[in-house]
This record gives sequence, C-alpha cells and structure tokens, in this order.
Amino acid sequence: PVKEEVDLNKIIREVQTMMQEAAKEKRVQLESRLDGTLPTSLLDPNQMKQVLINLIKNSIEAIEKDGSITVSTHSQGGHICLQVADTGRGIEPKIISEIFNPFFTTKKTGTGLGLAVINKIVEDHHGTVSVESTLGRGTTFTIILPCE
Ligand code: ADP
Ligand code: MG
Repeated sequence: PVKEEVDLNKIIREVQTMMQEAAKEKRVQLESRLDGTLPTSLLDPNQMKQVLINLIKNSIEAIEKDGSITVSTHSQGGHICLQVADTGRGIEPKIISEIFNPFFTTKKTGTGLGLAVINKIVEDHHGTVSVESTLGRGTTFTIILPCE
C-alpha cells in the first residue's frame, strides 16, 4: 500500500457520488453518518476506495428494489470504525463463514473476489473486517483500522 494522511470521510463522499447512479436505478438511498471529529490516518486512498466500492456494490446487488445503504464512521480510542449497513436480502448463516474466500460467490456472474480483496487490503492496513447479517433484513460489514 502507498499510505498517506487521509480523510476517510472525504473518500466515502467521493465513492457515494460515484455509486449514486447505480443506486438510483434500484431506488436505493445512499446515506451516511460520518463522524466529523474523525482523525486523518495513514491509509492507501485508492485501496480504501476499492474497499468502499466493493462493499457498496455488494449491498446494491443484495437489494432487489427499494432500500438503503448507510455508511458510517466513528473514532474509537486509537481506532477508526467504518460500517456499511444495507437493507438487502441478508446472508444465509450456513455460508457466512465462506464469503471471504476467494472465488466464493452465490451470483450467476459473480467473481467471488470482492470480499477477498477487501480482506487483503484491510490486513495490509493492520485492521479487521467482520460481518453481521439477518436473513431477509440486511447485512452490516464493520472494518476497524488503527489510526497510525
Ligand atoms: P461476488 O460479489 O462476486 O459474488 P464477493 O466476494 O463480493 O463476490 O461476495 C461473495 C458473496 O458474499 C456474494 O456472492 C454474496 O453471496 C455474499 N455477500 C457479500 N456481500 C453481501 C451483502 N451485502 N448482502 C448479501 N450477501 C452478500
Ligand atoms: Mg462483490
């Protein structure tokens, strides 16, 4: 990674603007709750964009029509917490342990690489990624990154 002092909130706004068109086609609201006191941190801005694009794309694909995707940030001691929560179809408990595996997909034309790439990028930033999902209700991905 090529790390620099980055304002994660700014990257989120940029990616939400990029994804707005795709969201609108499915009547998906892109919302954000961004912590204005978030410190800048040493991150690779392009890789963080990739993480957000992959998460929001999955969330849009998980919503049949009408729904919302909320991206939130908050600072947590020496860490930054980033969450992407959607109101999509959710993930079946029996497959949830496999979704980060490269090439695991439940989609006809999926690559199964989106979450594997996220996992690698988060690892390279010494962070963690986790998921919570309720079938038929939605899914939340949580990424914790150290503020370096
Ligand atoms: P792909 O999108 O190509 O299938 P990913 O690695 O991005 O590959 O995702 C792997 C699988 O995890 C998806 O096929 C889907 O089953 C599940 N998944 C990921 N994100 C979500 C989400 N937000 N809601 C429901 N299922 C999801
Ligand atoms: Mg994907």
